[in-house]
Formats: sequence, C-alpha cells, structure tokens
Amino acid sequence: MEQKKIIVAIDGHSSSGKSTMAKRLAAEVGYVYVDTGAMYRAFALHCVRLGVMDEQNIEEPKIPEVIGKTAISFAIVDGRQHTLLNGEDVESEIRTLRIGNCASRISALPIVREAMVNAQQKMGMEKGIIMDGRDIGTVVFPSAEMKVYVTASEEVRAERRFLELKAKGEQPTMEAVLADVRDRDYRDTHRAVGPLKKADDAFVLDNTYLNQEEQYTLLRLYFKSLSGL
Ligand code: C5P
Repeated sequence: MEQKKIIVAIDGHSSSGKSTMAKRLAAEVGYVYVDTGAMYRAFALHCVRLGVMDEQNIEEPKIPEVIGKTAISFAIVDGRQHTLLNGEDVESEIRTLRIGNCASRISALPIVREAMVNAQQKMGMEKGIIMDGRDIGTVVFPSAEMKVYVTASEEVRAERRFLELKAKGEQPTMEAVLADVRDRDYRDTHRAVGPLKKADDAFVLDNTYLNQEEQYTLLRLYFKSLSGL
C-alpha cells in the first residue's frame, strides 16, 4: 500500500485517554503531536496570572489584549512534550484542577477559540500531524483523513483523573473530581462555538472496558489502513 502523510484528528471528553494514545501513535509513526487542551490551559494560566480571570469571573473586555500578548509553543524536555507560555515552561502549572477548570471556562469565548483554531490550522499545513482536543475533526480540520472520537463512562474518566491528580501531589476527593468531569462535559458540549461533538465521519472509540493496549491496537490499525504506514 502506498504511504501518505495524513492529518489525524482525535476528539473526545476530558480524561478519556485521548492524549496518551495520540502521543504514543505520534512517537511510533514519527508524526508531530499537538495537545490543543494544553494551549487552552496555557492561555487560561496567562489570564489568571494577569488577574483577568479566576474560577468565577472573566474580564471579557481585556481578553483581546491578552491574546495579543500570548505565544504558546511546545518543546521536548527529557523526551516529553512540554508547553511553553511566552517561552516559559509551564507544563506542570497548567495540569492542576484549577487551571483545567479555568481553561474550560475561557475556551467558551469565541475570540479565544478563533485565535487557537488559527494557530492550530497553521501547525497542520504540512500534514503528518496528530492533534487532540474537542473540535479538531469538526472545526480545525474538517477534512482530516482520520478522525477518532474517544469516550468512556463518567465514572471511569473521573477515576482516571483522580489517580492522575493524586500522582501529581494534589489531594482531591472523588466527589469533587466526578463533579468537575460532569461540569466540563456540560460546558464542552453546550458552548455555542466549537462544541464537542462527534464528526459524522469519525470512528468512535469507547474505552470504558478497554485497557490502554487494546485501545492503542485499534487506533494503530485504523491509522495503518488510512496512511499505509
Ligand atoms: O484536554 P484538556 O482537559 O487538557 O483541555 C482543557 C480544556 O480546554 C477542556 O476542558 C476544554 O474545555 C478546552 N478545550 C477546548 N477545545 C480543544 C481542547 C480543549 O475547548 N480543542
């Protein structure tokens, strides 16, 4: 089979395991990996630091100015992709429950989505890219050759997030994490611009009852059938 460079769009609910799979596939096939959630998180962190938002409020009139002052990029540190905000490594700071929550709120603003989508489209111009997020197959790359929609039950996702946060030294309760998963699902699927929804031509991967190896096997086979690689 002929090999060709394609665009892989992986969308899905928070804590569905999409980033882990996407990163592994990118490393195996030599594609560029872009975590768009990290971009929204870095932008939210910038807004929090500048005092333009907190977990309750957003000073919307100030957002365009912050967009103009924000440059988000990625760098490989010790073999892992880290997110940079204006050149500063903010990888661990953006992974907290608080910043995730702020990212979920700020990402509902159309002006923020427009800036992020533009930047993401530029990154995909050369193809050979795997991008994960919420609106990649529907808005960022509607003509991506490969689209996957990843999901799992709320409880399974909350448990995964709980373990992840504990491993990072946070002390969340299971109730708080489950409530956060539900809130984020609601906001992701109900916003007016770029809501999370399955693209008509996306392959659905529900991993509630699959382990990481099993779901990766499915993803890898699907990629091979489309790219020949
Ligand atoms: O995927 P992750 O949980 O890191 O994303 C953080 C937040 O950014 C999500 O809760 C979601 O609301 C938002 N997001 C988005 N569109 C994307 C990626 C993430 O709105 N493409």
